[in-house]
Order: sequence, then C-alpha cells, then structure tokens
Amino acid sequence: MSRWSFYTSKEIKPQGWLRRQLELQAKGLSGNLDKMWPDVKDSAWIGGNRDGWERVPYWLDGFIPLAYLLEDADMIKRAERYIDAIISAQKPDGWICPCSDGERKGYDSWAVLLISKILTVYYDCSGDERIPEIIYKVLKNYYELLSSGEIKLFDWGRFRWYEGFIAVNFTYQRYKEDWLKELAVILKEQGADYNDFTELWKRPLNRWRFDTHIVNLAMMLKYEAVSCELLGEEYTDSAERLYGLLKQYNGTPVETFTGDECLSGLSPIQGTELCSVVEQMYSYELLYAHTGDNKWAERLEVLAFNALPATISDDMWTHQYVQMSNQIACQRFPGRSMFRTNNSEAHLFGLEPNFGCCTANFNQGWPKLALSVFMKDGNTVISSLPIPSELCTVDKHITLKTDYPFKNSLCYTIEAKTDFTFVVRIPSFAKRLRVNGEGVDCGELVFEVKAGSRREITVEFEAEAYLESRPNGLNTVKCGSLVFSLPIKYAAEKIEYERDGVERRFPYCDYEYIPLSDWNYAYCGDLLVLEEREVSDVPFSSELPPVVIKTVGKKINWGYEDGFETVCAKIPESTEPISDEKELTLWPYGCAKLRMTELPKI
Ligand SMILES: [Zn+2]
Repeated sequence: MSRWSFYTSKEIKPQGWLRRQLELQAKGLSGNLDKMWPDVKDSAWIGGNRDGWERVPYWLDGFIPLAYLLEDADMIKRAERYIDAIISAQKPDGWICPCSDGERKGYDSWAVLLISKILTVYYDCSGDERIPEIIYKVLKNYYELLSSGEIKLFDWGRFRWYEGFIAVNFTYQRYKEDWLKELAVILKEQGADYNDFTELWKRPLNRWRFDTHIVNLAMMLKYEAVSCELLGEEYTDSAERLYGLLKQYNGTPVETFTGDECLSGLSPIQGTELCSVVEQMYSYELLYAHTGDNKWAERLEVLAFNALPATISDDMWTHQYVQMSNQIACQRFPGRSMFRTNNSEAHLFGLEPNFGCCTANFNQGWPKLALSVFMKDGNTVISSLPIPSELCTVDKHITLKTDYPFKNSLCYTIEAKTDFTFVVRIPSFAKRLRVNGEGVDCGELVFEVKAGSRREITVEFEAEAYLESRPNGLNTVKCGSLVFSLPIKYAAEKIEYERDGVERRFPYCDYEYIPLSDWNYAYCGDLLVLEEREVSDVPFSSELPPVVIKTVGKKINWGYEDGFETVCAKIPESTEPISDEKELTLWPYGCAKLRMTELPKI
C-alpha cells in the first residue's frame, strides 16, 4: 500500500507562478505539437504514417493533465480526439498498438506498457468510464501473448518492464483477478534486474547500452515501489542504494545523473538528457507517495526547480536534448561530438536536437509536478510540495499562496466541512521555522482542522546559502532547493531549416547560444548574500531572475576542453588569480541558460 495517494486534476488547481508556468507550456510546444510536428500530427496511432510507437503516448502523458489542470476546453477536445482514435483502433483480442498482427513479435512492447499507463492518466483526469475495460483488454491480451510465448519482452520493453505496473495496479484494484498477478511475475522475470548492472555505472563507457541508458535509469528507480505489492514482496528501499551509486559516480549538482545518453561520470561538461529529468521527477513523485519519505520530495524539488527549467526556453517552444552543469556555449561542434553517443547539436535549444524523444516526453514534467502538490491518506491531507495551488474537494478547500522556492513564506487558507488532519512537509534545510509568527521546532507540521472552521496558517522559514564541494576540486552554491550558477550573457542565433520532412520555423526553430561575457572565475571565500526580487511572468526567467546571490570571485586561466573551443575544460588549467576581486551575481541554475555551476574556490 502506498503511504500517500494522489488527487485528480479536478481537485488540484494550480495558482501563482505554477499556473503561469503551465500556461506558458500550453502556449508553447506542448500545446501545439499536434498541429505542427509530423510524429504527433500524422502519427500511426491516429491513422497516419509517422511514428506509431512512443511519441504520441509520451506527448499525451503531459498534454492530457496540462489540458485538464488548465480546464482548457480546446485542449481537452484535442486530447479526446487522440484517445478516441487510439481506442477505436483496438483489435477484438485487445491489442491496441498500431502494427499488424504479423508485426507483433518484432514490435517492441514498451509502447504497450506506455499506452496503458497513459490511459490511466487519461482516466484520472477525465473519469471516462470506457477506460478501465479498454486497459483490462490490453493487459489481458498482453498477458496471453507473453504467457504463451508468442511475444517476449526485449530491448526497451525489457528494460522498462516496471512501467507496466502503473496500469497493472490500476486494473488489479478494480478487477482483483489472479492473471494480473501472473502478468506481474512475467514482467519482472522477463525484465532486466538493474541490481546486476551496478558495476557498469562506476566507469563511463563510450558505448551505447540499455543498462547504462540515462532514461532507463531515471525510470527504474521506482521499480520496487510500483511492483512490490502485487508481487507479494517486501519493500526494501532498493531505490536508495541504486540512487546512491548513481549519484556517487555520475551525480550532478542538480540531482540528475550525467547521461549523453548513457552514464557519463562526474564531469561538469557531460550532458544529461531531458527525458531523464522528467522521468526521474515522475519516479520521485511515486517514490514519495509510496514511502512518505521526505528525501524523495526534496530531491524532486531540486530537479523541478533547477534541471527542468534550465533546459527549456522561457517561451517553452524549444529545449535541449542534453544540459551541462558548466555550459559556456550551445553551439554545434564543427567536427566530432564531445558527447559520448549524442551528436554535435544535442545541447542546442531547438525542436528536436539530436533526437525527438524529449520533444514528446518533456511535456509531463510540470503537469505531473502540479498533480503532486497535495497528497492524501484517508482523512489526512499532506502539503507535499509547497508551491502555489488550491485543493478543492467535496468537503475541503485549501489555498496555498506562496512564491516558494524563491521566497520561504507559505500562506494556507483552509475551509472544511469535516474534521481532518493537515500535514505540512517542511524541507530539512529550513531554519528558524515560524508558524503564524511564533517560532517552532523544525520538522513536519501537523494541524487538526475542525469541521465548519476557517483557518489561516502562515509558515515561514529561512534557508542559508552555502558552498557544496563537488568532485575535481570544484564547488557549487546552493540555497534551499535552488542551485546557483554564474550566468553567462549570450546572443541567441536563430536557425531555420527543414530536415527529413520536419520543419524548424520560428517559434519552433533551433537556436545557438553564443557567449558574450567571461566565465573563467573562481570563488573567493564564503560570503554569499541572498537578494530576493519579484517573480516575473516567466517564473524561471532567463532575463529577470526571481532571486540572486551576490558573492566575490577572481578570474583564472581555465582553458578549453582539448579539441573544442566552445566547451570549457573539465577542470581549470590553473587556479592562480589573474584579476582583482570582482562582485559576482549568481542566478538560479534554472534561469541561467549559459552558466558556470561548478567553480574552484581560492
Ligand atoms: Zn529524450
């Protein structure tokens, strides 16, 4: 049993900066992909001749909750059109993916696992009563094909077997039939056991492999949480052990792991694929709901407030395939690629730099975060992520006004028709916690709310900025859930073209970011002064950061990575200062599109 369960898009109403972020997403690529991107617009899932595998399901995974959270009638209608087309193409035996009967054996059934999950997302948002039976038939057919040996898990399906448990759990809760438990066993048996691969994670290879693939690893962290109950196994927190190893050998300052696109070590100039950012967020949302362990919510915050906004443009029309911690330019490499298995454009902001998976998959990031703001357990409501939202259920109404994570003040207004317990998760970094102006011990806050009452609760705390040491003698500035970087001024150069029948035209063209200011600095001392500003219309604005940190630094001889004049060296050539002390203004990592995040201290 999960510790917490989720509310639906009907009950959660994003407010403040979170709502503005979702609105930007709806106006940007997410809200328009079905109008201009061939792999969604003309997909085989809706009778066209383009991609009939993961891209439409990926897009719907974000587009559906986005449409329902914003209560946007046009977007809801467009989501329904896709769902209707998909379910009307379901074969009498239950098979739902767009391939012929003869092709099933060679069709990577990752798409079966994925579309079943997306149908649960659609059901949670729409309440469409057709859906449970559709999913039942998909899974029953899948079970029959797998158990008879007609098809087998291979490649992506083999490495993403646990994704199927979202739909298997959903169906078991409703039908309680034993074959679902048998399907669970088959998935695990035919699926890859990541505990067998951990030695491979300790030394990056210049070779593409499923078992070091960054998106697979981001997804798999939840495998035990989603599968243990149906398999009748005990939860052992294997996620923590696997997370620990990934972090030790491939961690970044923003809670991602390097992967361009397989694990890439601890270097600040290797990339992290956007798909892995949103999949890791989703894993942490489920891990937090399953365990109630605050560490997953805290790691989720760092991903959501740093790695996610950093790699998508302000207007949410363009994104990178990979982001780097020290990213001094986003310009095509003229010769070979610096990335291990990604091409020379993987770090550009564009429509589908390197490959189009992230174009479809990034859409789930913000909407699913918004659906995780409040969670419940029986008669208890938890404020799991303190970001601006409203919760409206039949018997309670909670409003949370805040600019967190940019400001550490939370104002709750609660009205209830029945008694309930209200829990506020307080981040472990919080200092000098005050409730309605009175100092209290830090830790979880628990309030008993009485029926018929109206309560206002103001929670305030402070976060202290600090330098965290990183590998290679470098350091990163952090404060609360925000990571800070030295921003680099840049010129954005628009690139419009067509390739393989896919147009790049403004606003969905590619951009190169060319650096215009110096980046070769070292921090001098520990003086870090936080300065709060207004949160603008674009919450993680690349022009108007909502908070900055002032510190001092000196220039050093840093140098370039051998053979690449647009990539800084992994570590500086020297830490001898070559300038006087200078005031540096650090920006949130999520706002600084070009940045230095890991610097030496002198
Ligand atoms: Zn991707």
